[in-house]
Formats: sequence, C-alpha cells, structure tokens
Amino acid sequence: RVVVGTKVDQNHVNWVTAYNMLTGIRFTVSRTNAKMDRDLTDADFEAKHKFSFDITGNELTPSAKYDFKFKDYAPWVFRHLRSIFQLDPADYLMSLTSKYILSELGSPGKSGSFFYFSRDYKYIIKTIHHAEHKFLRKILREYFNHVQANPNTLLSQFYGLHRVKIPYGRKIHFVVMNNLFPPHRDIHRTFDLKGSTIGRDFKEEDLEHNPRATLKDLNWLRRNLHLEFGPTKKKAFIDQMEKDVKLLQRLKIMDYSLLVGIHDLERGNDENLRDKTLQVFQPGGDTADDPQTTNMLMRTPSKLENARKARELRQMIKYQKPIPMDQTTSKMPDEMLEGRKDFYFYSDDGGFRATHEDDCAGEEIYYLGIIDCLTHYSFIKRAEHFFKGLTNQESQISAIPPDRYGDRFVRFISGITKTREAAEQEKVDVENT
Ligand code: ATP
Ligand code: CA
Ligand code: CA
Repeated sequence: RVVVGTKVDQNHVNWVTAYNMLTGIRFTVSRTNAKMDRDLTDADFEAKHKFSFDITGNELTPSAKYDFKFKDYAPWVFRHLRSIFQLDPADYLMSLTSKYILSELGSPGKSGSFFYFSRDYKYIIKTIHHAEHKFLRKILREYFNHVQANPNTLLSQFYGLHRVKIPYGRKIHFVVMNNLFPPHRDIHRTFDLKGSTIGRDFKEEDLEHNPRATLKDLNWLRRNLHLEFGPTKKKAFIDQMEKDVKLLQRLKIMDYSLLVGIHDLERGNDENLRDKTLQVFQPGGDTADDPQTTNMLMRTPSKLENARKARELRQMIKYQKPIPMDQTTSKMPDEMLEGRKDFYFYSDDGGFRATHEDDCAGEEIYYLGIIDCLTHYSFIKRAEHFFKGLTNQESQISAIPPDRYGDRFVRFISGITKTREAAEQEKVDVENT
C-alpha cells in the first residue's frame, strides 16, 4: 500500500524542503483566502507571486526557520478549484500544517518525482518536472473549464501549484492534489492501468517481497479481474472517463493511467497492517527528540477540539492574522471524508462501490482516478529521440499519438468494466459458439 512511506522528521534529508513547502503553502493560501471572493479574470491564469522567507521575517512574510524563496502560481484559480472540489479552506490549511505532518513515498515512478502525504493522508504533494509545471500553467484554463463543467471528473484534482528554492539550491516545482486512497481502509490490491500490454507486467514473484506493490495491465488480465459496475454505475463511469479522455486527447496528453485501489469488504482491515500504517501519519511515535511537539501530537484531539481549531483558523484567515506553525489537528478517519459525498465516484466511503447486474451493492469498494496527466506528447517524443538506437520496444509502443493512446485507454477500461454476472454470461456464450 502506498501509505507505507517514511516519516519526514527533522532528521530526514528532505525535512527542510518539506518544511519550506508547507510554510509557503500556509502563507500563500491564507493570504489569498483572506480576501473577499471574486470572479476570475484572464490575468488570474497567468499570475505568479514571489515571496522571500527568512529567519527574521519582514513586512510581507512572517519569520521562518530557514531562508527560502517561494513562488505561488495562479492563486485565485486554485482557490476557485478548491472551492469547486468543496475543500474547506481551514480544513485544507490544517491538513497541510504542523511540523511532523508528512510522510514521503520516495520516488515510486521512473520520473524521479517525490510524493509526500499530508499527515491526515488526504493530500499528496508531488514534485514535478519543470516541463510539467510549464505545461500545467499552459493548460490551466482548459483544465479549469473542464472541471467546472464536470465536477465529477476522474482526473487528478489539482489544489495548488508552487515552487520552492533554497539559497544555492535548485528550483523545485510541485502540485498539491487529492490522494485517491482512503486513510481508514486497507487497499488490498493496487493497479496502474494504461491499456497497453507491452512492458505492463509487474513480476509476480516479486509480490512476495512487496505484497502491496502496484500491479499493471497484464497482472490485471492474468487475474481475470473486472471493474464490477452494474448498468447505472457503468454508464456513469464510462461517460465520465470518455469526457475526461477527450480533454486529454485535445491537449495532446499521454501516458496517464487509471489508478485503481481495491478494498475487499469481506476481508476488511487487517489490524496488523493498520498498526504499521498508522505509525506513518500518527506522529509522536518516534519524535521523542522534541518533547514539546511529542506531547502536543501524541494525543488525538477530540471532535470538539478540532471544531474549535477549525473555527480559530477561519477567524485567522478572515482577519489575516499570521497562523502559528504549530497549529495542528488529527482528525478521526471517519470524519475525514465528509464533504466528498457530493462527488459521485467518491461517495461510497471515499470510493465507488461495486454493484451487480441489478445495481445492488457488491463486495468491493474501488478507489480510482486518472493520474499522471501532465505529460505532453512532445516530451515523450523528445525522450524517445534521446533513446534512439537503443531499440527500446516499450518506448516505441508508448509513443503512439495522443488520440490513439486515449482511444486505446478507453477501449481497455470499458472492456474490463463489467459485473461478475456479465463476465460469467460472456464465458458461457463463448463456450456455446
Ligand atoms: P512515471 O512517470 O514513471 O509513471 P510519476 O513519478 O509521474 O511516474 P505517477 O505515475 O504519477 O508517478 O504515480 C506513481 C504512483 O504513485 C502511482 O502508481 C500510485 O501508486 C501513486 N499515486 C500517484 N498519484 C496518486 C494519487 N492521486 N492518489 C494515490 N496514489 C497516487
Ligand atoms: Ca505514471
Ligand atoms: Ca509521469
């Protein structure tokens, strides 16, 4: 499971980066949210604001632990996006708050991106390549319009785009987005599906060492799995996927996948695994080096306490008060998905529950969405040019143009979307011909 990451504490190599990212987000988000809401203008899509943080602080920025520069991109657009996705501003700030909040998931892909989870596991910070950053800025308006017209989109929900830089350090671009996976349920199997078979196989024998690995298309087919949605859900799911993929095709985006996490309700949660998992985002376990923080974080605040903190934070945002770095909360898991109920594909306990042919509830909850959708066709072409001569079959195959990539993706995912009953029936039909 993705959650088993490394906690980013003060001894972690990326502590300073993580601290700076959070400090910058806190400052810029509360700054934007302190203002009266207004309609977006053309300029909002191009906007970027640069801030310098230092240990003394200045009239613009509060003092911080380290010297660093922070850039905030299109803050008003992202404020509106967060509102479309129904994030509560105080809640967003609280999640991306406090000292020991993050766990790092090294670099799961080949791209070299780093992934950080907010402490309550709701949000993911993904560092992105400069080219992806420029590309997101370029398509931001189209993305915004699409999301506005399709709040039930399956595409990654982007909540912020920022850049940090420490003196003499390199520029690190990153996005804040939704974590598709829930904090309170084990994901028994994870698949990253592209609709291609070449190179899309996770070695089954490696599963032994890494039982929670993300599997791929061939592993899916080998297990004869389906996205088990009865007629109503199937139609809604495929319709939305088609709309989302049309946008990706128009923007010449490639290489995205459908990320699918399966929670098997009969298996439920494996307590052993949960204990291990919770350590990652229940800070305090091994933070004894800082007794004050440990005490503060060890106990789980009550619902009432959380509500009070949220109220205080709202006031601070309203009156543009600086927010102390140690404002923290740790919500109970079942409170965390409130507010997602309005989003069709995330409305069954944060996911989308299987159904049968008669549309009655099934045995699994799927947590799914289209991820890694910032790769423009030209990047792949460029990378390919670089590898030319290596006769890498995989890269040749992946570089089919965006239209074909999208068609193949939709065909594959639609093809595996069927109930058990429908799959059984098909088998019988085939045997009878
Ligand atoms: P590459 O370009 O090599 O595919 P990448 O660094 O761009 O890799 P992604 O493909 O975005 O990374 O994601 C890698 C893995 O991280 C996914 O397979 C999934 O396990 C996890 N992941 C990514 N985005 C999310 C998300 N929104 N929610 C949950 N898990 C995610
Ligand atoms: Ca990917
Ligand atoms: Ca990628």
